[in-house]
Amino acid sequence: MSDSLFASYLIQGTGALITALIFGGFYREYRRTFLREWALSWSALCVTFAGAALSAVLYDTRPLDDPVRLGLSLVIGAAGYLEVVWLLFGSGDLLGRRPFTPGERRFFLAFAAAAGAALTLVHATDPGGTSIRFLLRAGLRGVIVGIAFLVAAVHVWRAPGVHAIGRRIVVAAFALFGLSQFQLLAIQISGRADALRSSFILSLGFGEFLLMFAMGLGVVIWLLEEQHAAATTNAAQVEQLALHDPLTGLPNRKLFLDHLTIAIPQARRNKHKLAVLFIDLDRFKLVNDSLGHSAGDKLLQVVASRLRSALRETDTVARMGGDEFTVLAPVVHTVEDAIAVARKIRDAIKELITIEGRELFVSGSIGIGIFPDDGADATTVLKNADAAMYRAKAQGPDLFQLYTSEMNAHAIEQLALESALRRGVESLEFLMHYQPIVRTTDGAVAGMEAMLRWKHPVLGLVRPEQFIRLAESTGMIVPIGEWALRTAVRQLADWRAEGFPDLRMAVNLSTRQLQHPDLALCVRNILDECGVPAHALELEINETSATESGLDAVNQLAELKALGVGISIDDFGTGYSSLQSLRTFPVGALKIDTTFTRNLVRDANDTAIAIAVIALARSLGLRVVAEGVEHPTQLDFLHVQQCEYWQGYLCSAPVDAKEATLVLRRMSAAAGRIMSPVSLGAVGAASA
Ligand code: C2E
Ligand code: CA
Ligand code: CA
Repeated sequence: MSDSLFASYLIQGTGALITALIFGGFYREYRRTFLREWALSWSALCVTFAGAALSAVLYDTRPLDDPVRLGLSLVIGAAGYLEVVWLLFGSGDLLGRRPFTPGERRFFLAFAAAAGAALTLVHATDPGGTSIRFLLRAGLRGVIVGIAFLVAAVHVWRAPGVHAIGRRIVVAAFALFGLSQFQLLAIQISGRADALRSSFILSLGFGEFLLMFAMGLGVVIWLLEEQHAAATTNAAQVEQLALHDPLTGLPNRKLFLDHLTIAIPQARRNKHKLAVLFIDLDRFKLVNDSLGHSAGDKLLQVVASRLRSALRETDTVARMGGDEFTVLAPVVHTVEDAIAVARKIRDAIKELITIEGRELFVSGSIGIGIFPDDGADATTVLKNADAAMYRAKAQGPDLFQLYTSEMNAHAIEQLALESALRRGVESLEFLMHYQPIVRTTDGAVAGMEAMLRWKHPVLGLVRPEQFIRLAESTGMIVPIGEWALRTAVRQLADWRAEGFPDLRMAVNLSTRQLQHPDLALCVRNILDECGVPAHALELEINETSATESGLDAVNQLAELKALGVGISIDDFGTGYSSLQSLRTFPVGALKIDTTFTRNLVRDANDTAIAIAVIALARSLGLRVVAEGVEHPTQLDFLHVQQCEYWQGYLCSAPVDAKEATLVLRRMSAAAGRIMSPVSLGAVGAASA
């Protein structure tokens, strides 16, 4: 029997050794504390089995009280209990328990070793008392080891981390090993004869070996699985960072383009459309500037989450950067579907947003690009949605706009125009035209309005509508405007010297010029330079730029007015100014815009507006000039309404200086006679 016992212990010891080596080796690699504890635990187990194997050899040859056998018993007992403590240290660590202090560790280990040794020594030499001796030595230890393994199995099960095959193997092996301790005990207590059969002892040892091997293998698999999971999470994190906007968590431009690139062939295959919506918040810069960047960030986050929840799971919502978002609706059937998405977006953004205790009304401009109508590939559709957004924004806040191919053409045209304009400024391709401002009562020319023209080498004469905005937005208007002012005032000086000493000159100013800090200085210099009195100059500012200009502009105008320069509000009635805001302005005249004059007499509404403006101006002590008079009936009307001045093709279109001089001569010759509208028409026709 001792032979089979020896063999069984040897097998189990080998199993423990292999397991200890596996744990130790993996500890070196992974540095997980539980691996070190378990390597120690299995080393102790290995010592126990080695000791047991040796004592099995000595069993028949040496007496019970032989010092070698006693020594061996001591070692086996101590190691058997140390094994349990290390096992539990390890499984406790797995659960994330507070590690024991070195002092505590020493205490537990010493206690376990001492208890184990003491229990084996009691009754060590008691030959007949097999049951007591056995119960204290193997029995108690079996119970404790069994419980410890069951506890460790629970710990392993409950430990955080990956729950997959590896961990299940470990739990199962621990639990079986724990239970097998009880089974062993039961068999030995019952004293069943077959328990002593050598084949049984051998198979028992072999079973334990397998269980230990399973533990080692299970831990290896478990660690590999954890490593794999960690790698996957890392990869996901890296991807999240590379493809998402950190502020809102939305996909970024790259990921959006990826989605779009995948969606396009799908749409082509399934013969449906897809829509890309480009959203830009209105006045976001204002929020950022006035409430600070953190408020701006919060606003973006709120908008992001609103977009996300307003749209379908299958839609992609991305942040392009700044206050720009995009939405991909991968399946739409008609343009109306795309518009419905735009409406949803608009409503989601427009809901009141409270940030840092402030209530904000936010809106967005939305451009819509549709595949395949507006582009055959991802970048084109996106670019065109962007162009549509710009168009929407130009028309005012809170609008959406479908892409049209003219937009592209328009953009290209604008670009060409811009470089041409730059060249125009350099090579002085500008000239001035003049249009008489006629006094209604006697038909005398009271003044001239200077109109800028651009003599484009290919396009010919270009009117301001086509380039003033561009000149404004590029800042080129400042040098151009100064040139226009100087040219007009110089011309005025000539005319005044040539027999029209009371003639005045009206010059148009744009918003940008008005905001220029040197405006007043520049005007004064030009007047001095040309020797023209200030009261002979009138500056025309359109209604919108008058209401939008700041205090600095108003102060400059007040300074000019103090000099004697006249100020008129141009295009009156087309802006949305309240008269109140015009009160702060040093205004001397109002000009009724061509659009109202055009429909005078014919359209009751426009007629009413003209009547109201004339009455209003009179009550405020302002002069009134009606622009765009083309028909004698319009002039009759102005007569009746006692509108003091008028301009228009009926007298003359804006013409160059030479022709304007002829008109001046003719008109002043005719003045004095009461002019009938018919004769005026003849003059106008002659000069046009
Ligand atoms: P505005 O000051 O309202 O000028 C009147 C516009 O009406 C001029 O167009 C003029 O040619 C046109 N007009 C004159 N009589 C008639 C008429 O009987 N019927 C019709 N249908 N139109 C008439 P234009 O010359 O194209 O100028 C357009 C605008 O460009 C001007 O509007 C003015 O705001 C701006 N502008 C013109 N010259 C300058 C300039 O030197 N500097 C700046 N900043 N703006 C200028
Ligand atoms: Ca004007
Ligand atoms: Ca006008």
